[in-house]
Formats: sequence, structure tokens, C-alpha cells
Amino acid sequence: MDLENYRLIHDELKRTGATLVAVSKTKSLGDILALYNAGQHAFGENKVQELLPKHEALPRDIQWHFIGHLQTNKVKLIAPFIAMIQGVDSLKLLQEIDRQAARNNRSIDCLLQVFIASEETKFGLSEEELFELLGGTELKALQNIHICGLMGMATNTEDEEQVRREFRHLHSIFVQIKERYFAGMPYFKEISMGMSSDYRIALQCGATMVRLGSVLFGPRG
Ligand SMILES: *Cc1c(COP(=O)(O)O)cnc(C)c1O
Repeated sequence: MDLENYRLIHDELKRTGATLVAVSKTKSLGDILALYNAGQHAFGENKVQELLPKHEALPRDIQWHFIGHLQTNKVKLIAPFIAMIQGVDSLKLLQEIDRQAARNNRSIDCLLQVFIASEETKFGLSEEELFELLGGTELKALQNIHICGLMGMATNTEDEEQVRREFRHLHSIFVQIKERYFAGMPYFKEISMGMSSDYRIALQCGATMVRLGSVLFGPRG
């Protein structure tokens, strides 16, 4: 594996203060370990059945981020060790994460996934659903989760201005929500946006966390 890109991106991100989550889905243990040995400790996976054996085989101090669509019946499998669940898009899922976190005597960091793209296929809460969720009373009962911020994916398009508009939109939702629901709660601070093709735009729009796969590991087969 070529670590040159990793080093360049690592330095680039250091200047912005944003966290790098290396998206290792479909990548081998050897490739992940190479990046780990170069200093990368946060990795993202989007399938539970792929994450579990990787977690078993790799160093214990890796911070695993779940970045895909998580089914409620699979939460218990990752609850003992997951560092952050990005892409939470329902109250039902939050409640199950809370229940499983409690069973493991821990608290689990979550990001709420907001739908900002113009594509039909992406998961996530609409703005309306997001405000409904945050305004409801059910959330207050959840003592074993921390909602640490928002996550979003822009439309997969060549149109950079559209991507920029979508990232700006997520940033403005974040600012509103922080003011209204998380004032004085310093852990609500993450905006996870930006992938290999658009992370520079995301950083310009205030991303605090980027999720990069192919630009680090090479294209997925
Ligand atoms: C695969 C994936 C990424 C990384 O995609 P790249 O284009 O390879 O950087 C980021 N976020 C999510 C949710 C993904 O599924």
C-alpha cells in the first residue's frame, strides 16, 4: 500500500483540525495495519459482518466508526466496542443503541445522519424529522448515548456548486441545532461530511470530520 497520499492528507487535515476517519470497507487486514502503523487509529466500516472479524483481528486501540445503515437487531454486536455510530437516522435506533450501551456499562457516541442530497437512495433524516426527533421528550430518557453532531453525504455529482450548497446547508442546520438543543454541551461538535471526491469542499464548509476511503487505500474492486 502506498502511504504517500495518507501522509499528504494527514498534513492537510492537521492544518484544519479535522478528524480523519479512514474508510476501510472491502480493504484487507494488511492494508488497514499498514495505515495503523503509519499512525492512523480511526477507521470506518459500513457492514457489521465485515467489521466484527476486523475488530477481532486488529489492534484493540483502533477506534471503529460505524458509517453505514445500521439495523437495530445488529446494534448489540458492535455495542461493546464501537467508538462512534455515524448515520443514526431514527429514534428507534437511538433507543436500541442506548439499551445496548447500558448493558455494556458504557456510553456510545452517535451522529445523526441528515439527508442533504438530491438523490433518492441515501439514508438519513429530513430536516423536519430531525427537529421533530430533537424536540421530542423521548430523547431525554436516553442516558447512555451522546449525540455528538451530524453526518451527511452530498449528491454524487460533478457540480461542485451543488455539493458546496449541500455542505453549507448541513453546516447551517448544525449551527441552529447546537443553539437550540445543545447549548452548553461541548460534546455536540462534529460535522462529519466529505468523502474522497469532495472532502476539500467539505472542509471549506466547516467539516470537523471527513470519511475517506479510496483516496487513501486506492479504488475499491
Ligand atoms: C464508502 C463511504 C465513504 C468513503 O468513500 P470514498 O469515496 O472511498 O472516500 C464515506 N462515507 C460513507 C458513508 C461511505 O459508505
